[in-house]
Parts: sequence; C-alpha cells; structure tokens
Amino acid sequence: MSDFNFSLLCGETGPLTTSSRPDRLRLSMEGLTPILGVGEQVLAGTKVAVGNGPDKGDLHAPLAGTILELEPHSMFIEMGSGGKLAPVTPCVEGGDPLRQWLKSMGMDVGALYKASTLIINGVPPEPGISAFEPLLRDYRKTLELGLETIRKVIEPTKMFLVAAKGNRANAFANCTVAHVPPVYPNGLDPLVYKAILKQEVLPGSRPKNATILSVRELYAVGRVMETGRPVTETVMTIGGQNRLVRVGTPVGLLAAEAGVQVQPGDRAVLGGPLRGLAAVNLEQGVDKDTYGLTLMRREAGFETTDNFCLGCGACERHCPARIMPGMISRCAEFKQFERAEAYHIHSCMECGLCGYWCTAQRPLLQYIRLAKYELALLAGAHAPDTPPDDKLKEQTGDTPC
Ligand code: SF4
Ligand code: SF4
Repeated sequence: MSDFNFSLLCGETGPLTTSSRPDRLRLSMEGLTPILGVGEQVLAGTKVAVGNGPDKGDLHAPLAGTILELEPHSMFIEMGSGGKLAPVTPCVEGGDPLRQWLKSMGMDVGALYKASTLIINGVPPEPGISAFEPLLRDYRKTLELGLETIRKVIEPTKMFLVAAKGNRANAFANCTVAHVPPVYPNGLDPLVYKAILKQEVLPGSRPKNATILSVRELYAVGRVMETGRPVTETVMTIGGQNRLVRVGTPVGLLAAEAGVQVQPGDRAVLGGPLRGLAAVNLEQGVDKDTYGLTLMRREAGFETTDNFCLGCGACERHCPARIMPGMISRCAEFKQFERAEAYHIHSCMECGLCGYWCTAQRPLLQYIRLAKYELALLAGAHAPDTPPDDKLKEQTGDTPC
C-alpha cells in the first residue's frame, strides 16, 4: 500500500455512459419509511418511501416492477413490465416550498438553507473518483439550471466553484473559481470550507454564513428541473469509467458490466479506497450518494487487525483534523464511547488517513464510526437504522464475496 497515489487529478475522461438496465434492484431503506409493501406494483418514478426528518429526500422506484421483499434495511424489487409515471411540473416558487418540493423529488436538502456564501465543491472526494469531470465538461446547462434553482432557496451573495488545481473548472453562472492543491483529502467539505472561508467548520455542522453542495448534487437538482422526474440515479466512477447508474443496482452487476471479476476474499467498496464502505455482499444496491465502486483485491494487503495500539503516533501525524485517532480508537475498542468526546471525535472528517498509516493496521476509521454511532444513540439525536454489530461488520469488511 505504500505506493498508493493520493493525487486528485482526473486527466481527460470519457463521456458519461448509462449503465445497463438491471433485472432487480435492492434499495437501501436507511433513513426512510416505506409507504408500499410486498406484492405491490410500481412504475418508474413511483414513490416507495419517505425520508425521515426534515432533510432526507424521499425515495422513488427507478424502474417498473414488483416489490418482492421488504426488510428493515432494504426493499427488493424485481423488474417487470410497466412504464413510467408522467413527469410533474417543476416548482416555480422559491424558499421553503421549493426546498420541500425538491425533498419530495428525492433530493437530500440538508445543505439548502439561507447563507451568504454558496460553495460548489468540484474537487474529487477521493483518489480515483473522476465523476465530476464529465459533468463539468458536458452538462453545463444542467448544472446552470441546478444552480439557478438552489439560489432561490439559499439566496447567496457570493458563489464559488472549487476545483483541484490542474482539473477542469470552467466558470459557470457567476461563480468565482477557486483551487485547492490536487492531493487527498483536500476535496472533503470541511477542508474546502477552510480553503474558502479561512475558518474551520465542524464536520456535518451548518455554518451560519455558508453552505456547500457537490457538483453531483447540483447536477441532480438540474436533472429534476429539466425532466420533471425524481432523483433515481447516481453518477459513479467504476473502473475508471463514469456511469449513470440506477439507484439500487446490485454491486455485482456493476462489477460484471465493468469486466471485473470479484474473487473470494476481495472487497467491493461503495465509494473510494480511503473512506468507502465495504458492501455486505454483491447483491447490495448502490445509493443516491454512492460516487464510486472500488475493488480491493485480497493480495493488496489492506487487511486490518485487532492488534493493540503501539502509541507510535503515526496516525496523529497524518490527521488533517489534528486529533488523536489512536486514543479515540482505544476508547471505542473498550466501549468507553463518551471518553472519545474528550479527544474531539466530532472533529473527525472520516478521511481514513489514520487507518491507512496505522503501524499496527488497526481499523481506525471503523472504530471512529462505531463510536460516533454509539454517541448518537446515547444522545438520542436519532435512532440509527442499522444495529451496531451489523454496522461494525459492514464497515470492517468481511464481504462474503
Ligand atoms: S479519519 Fe482519522 S485521520 Fe481522518 S480526520 Fe478522522 S481521525 Fe483524523
Ligand atoms: S498509528 Fe496505530 S499503532 Fe500508532 S498510535 Fe496510531 S493507532 Fe496506535
């Protein structure tokens, strides 16, 4: 792993292509309440679940079919005959009515609030993810429509398009183009905020004066406005190719389409190599916010261990949040979750660098995510949908591929 490339440069990428029509879909129900049950027929665009809370977007069936299974965490739909719902007329209002309409059309709207500065993040989130490149090059009209729409909610006075230096960043609308060095983790939202606002923002928090959306989110809003149809696709990088993929498409189908053979012991990771989540199995479907599929070969030496922390400090030296991942992992390991707060766990932006550099190959990011999950339970902030044991298993790998 020592020759891993942290560069965020994309180079010239091919056009965005549409992934094949799957014969089945497995939709994640995380953060959603289903409104249809087993045996019901759906058309493409039928709403199948509503988002819990004020920010989570509703979920719609990407294709026509029949719901065959409904579990606490997923809905399985077998594709069948049937068409698509007629498009709806886009909302012409601004402010909260538009925000609510976008939520009902499947957009997560947590970043849509009034702020004086709007930042469009066009920096690849992880090495090897280039999905922003064809969007910025070939879908400018869609992006401009998306921007025009969200401006009616955010009402910014300043707008920035942020790109990695050396990648494409043609200005659109009235955005000022800004650059960050093309090295991971500079594309993560807290670091982009820091580069533009010159102030640090707690990961996941809402600064009063600014908000941030990715180019992918802007594209999704533009598509909803262009087509009058809900969000049922995600833009992903798979094996260096950028594809438009229907939400719920099983990981195994995407790997096969990309000509990738998944061998026993390999891990299929939803996202990129540093902060992605290992798929539970090859039938797991992709989500609206899945931006990549990365295959980690068994022989690549990414195995984590339950070794003790050596106290060597290597993780601290690479942590962009300047916290102590080793100490936090020890708190999680011994179920001392509240003690992790004394080590500023909430400043962690989940970049995964500590785990990458850990001398003892401890699963540091997974420990941190587990501790955050347990702290959220303790705070009663929300009831996470996945039981902790499943969550840890999911995040530490063990993909039965
Ligand atoms: S994942 Fe690790 S290195 Fe990255 S911010 Fe969190 S503690 Fe620091
Ligand atoms: S790099 Fe690993 S072994 Fe070293 S202090 Fe951090 S957690 Fe402990």
